[in-house]
Amino acid sequence: MKIARVETFLIPPRWLFCRIETDDGVVGWGEPVVEGRAEVVRSAVEVLSEYLVGQDPLRIQDHWQVLSKGGFYRGGPVLSSAVAGIDQALWDIAGQSLGVPVHTLLGGPVRDTVRVYAWVGGDEPDRLKEEVTAQVEAGFTAVKMNAAGRTPPIGSPAETAAVVERVAAAREVLGPHRDVAVDFHGRFSAANARRVLHEIAPLHPLFVEEPVLPEQGHLLPGLVAASPVPLATGERLYGRADFLPALTAGIAVAQPDLSHAGGISEVTRIASLAETFGAHLAPHCPLGPIALAASLQVAFATPNFLIQEQSRGIHYNKDADLLSYLVDTEPFRFVDGQAHRTELPGLGIAVDEDAVRNADRSGHAWRNPVWRHADGSFAEW
Ligand SMILES: [Mg+2]
Repeated sequence: MKIARVETFLIPPRWLFCRIETDDGVVGWGEPVVEGRAEVVRSAVEVLSEYLVGQDPLRIQDHWQVLSKGGFYRGGPVLSSAVAGIDQALWDIAGQSLGVPVHTLLGGPVRDTVRVYAWVGGDEPDRLKEEVTAQVEAGFTAVKMNAAGRTPPIGSPAETAAVVERVAAAREVLGPHRDVAVDFHGRFSAANARRVLHEIAPLHPLFVEEPVLPEQGHLLPGLVAASPVPLATGERLYGRADFLPALTAGIAVAQPDLSHAGGISEVTRIASLAETFGAHLAPHCPLGPIALAASLQVAFATPNFLIQEQSRGIHYNKDADLLSYLVDTEPFRFVDGQAHRTELPGLGIAVDEDAVRNADRSGHAWRNPVWRHADGSFAEW
């Protein structure tokens, strides 16, 4: 069996899919994307395909080595995301050709259900309560919310109080048996993060995400030591070497993205590394169905897995949503906030190829907003 063709599809809302076909007709799907830089990753996949076509698709580990390291320059979001999507597609092909799910190839399942969480985004406490109520009624046992929108690096008493008020509104609806995770999105300085962490600690967040920017990882040890709340990070880290300092700092939750951090191959290695630090895995996934399917396959086979993000109904999903490009939506029918394991081969989903090819004709040009502070200077989004 040889790789015959690699194609990419730029499709709404802001995704890039990759389809790899073998000479005997097996098809695997991947999702290589950096949100807002999809066209750049598409070019990277095209360059990497020069090497892949004609190769045996089942040599996944060797391809990962060559694609990640064979160009001499390595790492970073674009290359690691291109490799990630290709890696997902190769695992899909391996599962399809052997007739087993990817989690079987990863050593077999360690769980039968995977806890997933939903996003809530309301800026006003009343609106937030409505959104949390809707997710609780849909069966979810955990939600995640941003701490704040555009915010100065060190907030006023009113700005800090507004964060507490919103988390409190979510907690009031959730009660003591469900969870809320809070994403700081790197918008606060480390000093402000420390202050806000103490203020929201009595509301018992599941974790606080990106308490500082990824390039300020050297500040994580101090934050971990000062924080009464479990800290999480990783959506902007791209491999084991990037995670090692964060894990050494003592983060509680590692959040590699299956579409950014080298795919199934590298995320399983990150999970094992995290296990040696007593940290748990909660893969980042505000993306499409292939990234989520890959995340779930890893979750079913990973002992130190905590919870899975998924994008259904997320504010980014305009013009298409998580289920738009699937032949069968059953794998993502969450019951009581849980995804259920199946024996479907490969990634366990059937992509609607006609819908994907059709959507690629219009494509998208999604970019994240550029924010500025009141004085006109750049603000973290
Ligand atoms: Mg985040």
